[in-house]
Amino acid sequence: MADKTRHICGISGGKDSSALAVYLKQSRPQLDIEYFFCDTGAELPETYEYLNKLEGVLGKPIARLNAERGFDHWFEVFRGALPSPQMRWCTKNMKIKPLEEWIGDDEAVSYVAIRADEANRKGYISTKPNIQTVFPFLEADIDLDGVNAILDDAGIGLPEYYEWRTRSGCYFCFYQRKAEWVGLAERHPELFEKARRIEQKVLTDAGVDGDSSYEDFAMQGRAYTWSQGETLDELIARKEEIVKHHEEALARAKKSRRNLPLVAVLGAALDEEDDTTPCAVCAL
Ligand code: SF4
Repeated sequence: MADKTRHICGISGGKDSSALAVYLKQSRPQLDIEYFFCDTGAELPETYEYLNKLEGVLGKPIARLNAERGFDHWFEVFRGALPSPQMRWCTKNMKIKPLEEWIGDDEAVSYVAIRADEANRKGYISTKPNIQTVFPFLEADIDLDGVNAILDDAGIGLPEYYEWRTRSGCYFCFYQRKAEWVGLAERHPELFEKARRIEQKVLTDAGVDGDSSYEDFAMQGRAYTWSQGETLDELIARKEEIVKHHEEALARAKKSRRNLPLVAVLGAALDEEDDTTPCAVCAL
């Protein structure tokens, strides 16, 4: 009887999972790999453009798994609480659920793009017994340079948002660092404004008027703002200060990491503010 095991590779829109997709096509041509992307409907335009390019390289479509219900629905279900690192209802409902429904009870091998230089990081590991997880980059000792080389050789390079942001995912993702929020405001003012409006709704519902500062409403255990410690209005009012800090951090990272690719320098500079490991489902 033919082996019906499915071979699946999730693409987050980030460099590592994209490079893994290319690597699997090259290194395992005998497998019928199914590529998929969990689309929250709130991804950056650069991500959608990059996925189209990647499909050209892979020579097959990337299945777009859309959550049956989007952010607005779940935002209501969670009674207007913003998702946060402590309460990541967005990933669970808009990414993992659609994925597990897509796989159903099929036996599947899931290929995950943890690199050799970040072996301690955990990617999405399903708790479902029918899904086996493997890590091809760890097996082949492929690190950041290796990932960049795979994407360069394939002729697609990095997604464009890597000029200002190192984590893939929703435009409003709370894992963004301050300089990334400023980058969003500059590159996609309409998306920044949408994120700002969601935050304003949370504040209004909490009975906080527009002139209040973060300190006026900070309460433990509930996320009222996207970015730690301040509203987006407060953050953007400090734009010059944030940009100045970021440029100084970039200069330091360049100086101390002369041989690293630019994306690693940008990552190191952003990590100076916050090096929390981002969501392993959304940012690979
Ligand atoms: S990218 Fe961020 S906001 Fe979007 S689903 Fe993932 S963790 Fe949530």
